[in-house]
Amino acid sequence: MSGYSEMAGRAGSDEDLWPLYARIYRDSQEAIMITDRHAHIIQVNASFSRITGYEEREVVGLTPSVLKSDCQPPEFYARMWAAIHLDGKWKGEIWNRRKNGEVYPQWLSISAVKDEEGALQYYMAMFLDLTEYKSAASKLRLHAQVFSHAGEGIMITDTELRILSVNRAFTAVTGYTEAEAGGRTPALLRSGRHGRDFYARMWESLREHGRWQGEIWNRRKDGELYPEFLSITTLRDEKGNVTNYIGMFKDITERKQTEDKLKYLAHYDSLTGLPNRALLQDMLQDVTDGCGRSGERLGVLFIDLDRFKSVNDSMGHDAGDKVLRQMGERLKRAVRAEHIVSRLGGDEFIVVLRGLKRADEALETARRVTELLERPFDGADNEIYMTASIGISLYPDHGHDLESLMRHADLAMYEAKSQGTGPQVFNEGISSAFLRKLRLERELRFAVERGELRLVYQPQVGLESGRLEGMESLLRWRHPELGMIPPSEFIPIAEETGLIREIGEWALGEACRQLGVWVREAREVPAIAVNLSGRQFMAPDLADTIRDIVRKAGCEPRQIVLEITESFGIVDMEAVIAALRELKSAGFRIAIDDFGKGYSALGYLKQLPIDILKIDKSFLTELTTDPKSEALTRAIIQMAQGMALRVIAEGVETHAQMARLRELRCEIAQGYYIDRPMPAGELEAGYLKAPRAASGERS
Ligand code: C2E
Ligand code: CA
Ligand code: CA
Repeated sequence: MSGYSEMAGRAGSDEDLWPLYARIYRDSQEAIMITDRHAHIIQVNASFSRITGYEEREVVGLTPSVLKSDCQPPEFYARMWAAIHLDGKWKGEIWNRRKNGEVYPQWLSISAVKDEEGALQYYMAMFLDLTEYKSAASKLRLHAQVFSHAGEGIMITDTELRILSVNRAFTAVTGYTEAEAGGRTPALLRSGRHGRDFYARMWESLREHGRWQGEIWNRRKDGELYPEFLSITTLRDEKGNVTNYIGMFKDITERKQTEDKLKYLAHYDSLTGLPNRALLQDMLQDVTDGCGRSGERLGVLFIDLDRFKSVNDSMGHDAGDKVLRQMGERLKRAVRAEHIVSRLGGDEFIVVLRGLKRADEALETARRVTELLERPFDGADNEIYMTASIGISLYPDHGHDLESLMRHADLAMYEAKSQGTGPQVFNEGISSAFLRKLRLERELRFAVERGELRLVYQPQVGLESGRLEGMESLLRWRHPELGMIPPSEFIPIAEETGLIREIGEWALGEACRQLGVWVREAREVPAIAVNLSGRQFMAPDLADTIRDIVRKAGCEPRQIVLEITESFGIVDMEAVIAALRELKSAGFRIAIDDFGKGYSALGYLKQLPIDILKIDKSFLTELTTDPKSEALTRAIIQMAQGMALRVIAEGVETHAQMARLRELRCEIAQGYYIDRPMPAGELEAGYLKAPRAASGERS
């Protein structure tokens, strides 16, 4: 160390201490660097080399800027040097660069060393590497920050559970500040909602596993209860002794609310707020259990709104929803609190009547429900009149569980709907009717291929001329075991199952075939009317199909009248109109069947490309007895004539009706008074002129 004795000598200090100074200089943990007054490095110690990576010989003669890192701006150094000139010293944190390029923080102090006269001799710089210290300190700072800024509430207690520290989130959730909570135990937050067992299990888990977590109800400072998700951790020292407990929690009020909401949604119908099927199932379990003991009965009313679909379709879903909500309200008000009102979905409601003494009580309630519907419902912008069909089943008479009670009430409801005579209590007859329907449904699938279907023809006769003006073809099904099955029974089944498409095509083909036979025999045949079900219009290619069938049979479209009913029961009226226009322009004639029976078609009447209007049977029945029916019939006939439509009165059964129709200038009549629908052969014999070629008098 060349400069050592020189410096020591020039310093002129107590010479006995020199060896000590030398040792301190050499062994110091602090790096020491000495420069001359022009800041050229004269000496450095071992710690300097250890920290910077430079050997003494590498830096002697250089300036300290060899260590500069660019981390400080020029002003920083300017201020540093100004301080040294003024005060003779500077200290602070500075980032420097090691020989290997690494930048590191150091704690630096620089002193100017002066002689007795105060003349500047040297500069002495001492510094410490702060790298490790820094990372330890920043870790602590980080921990502190995490603690205070954490989104979760944190509470640290000692082994006695006295609260030592809490963070901001703790205060935000509980309302207690650190000052208020400090020194107290977490019992401060107890809600009283959990029993002793709960806390015992918590401590057991803490003892065994060192941690516990779960949901817990606590109480805020303002008294409000709230649910939190809490996890408690035990802290131990190196020897394994418990030193602290740390509780971290999250307020889960909101999550709980969503959970409750979900639970609600799973059990209640969102439209009406009524219990849904799942909840009904649960509730009924308890109810039937109770019934079994008390010997009381239970009534299940299955309520189905009639024609609800057409309300939805014609007035919009908002109107439909409004009706359903009002229906729910009315039902709730109509029954006592101990009964259950539930919505199954769609337009189906269930009312469960509890504690019935007599079976009749169920029927009485059902009648009251029917009366509820006498008042109109508020639609979106008009009043809507609704009716409902109600089926009733009783516990224990018709079943022991909700499933079978509902099925039987449902069957009774269908019966009520088809009978139209008010609420129906389930009975075995209904069950067998249902079984018959199931069987017909199955058998109908094979009716066409087994050749069980036939067409009969009913003549339509001119009221003035008395001549055959047309005929309507009507389906007949003779089942080998069940015998004749009326179309009123199997057509709805065919419509429900979609079989109507195949059956309808068969009927049209058969009518054409028969027509072909008569034409080939050169008989004078009027057009044949064929019935089309609304359901058939659901096939987008209906018009093409019909044209094909007629063409293949060698017939002309003008020989066929297509009868459609006023109430299609279908949604897409536009599509129906389009198909009818296509058929009409292909040459078919279109008749509106059962006119007057339906509800809304008057508006469409102008748009429909029709040729013939068939007055519904129901008008005829009352034509001669009810002046209102007569007035209506008269109006329909006049309207039809105004629109240049042909009018056919259907269901004419008496001479008086015939006479009245003549007076009203109705053109054509069809009905039992004239003739029943009959097989082709009979019609041929009775109505179709013998072929001209075969008629002797003509030649
Ligand atoms: P609809 O089209 O209104 O047919 C007229 C019904 O009235 C026929 O009943 C006919 O037998 C009956 N009828 C005729 N004259 C009188 C009368 O003076 N008094 C009474 N009370 N009834 C009379 P049917 O043959 O039982 O057919 C019932 C319904 O079945 C038909 O009503 C029609 O909607 C449907 N239907 C029958 N054949 C077919 C078919 O080929 N296709 C389709 N889609 N439906 C058919
Ligand atoms: Ca018809
Ligand atoms: Ca009819």
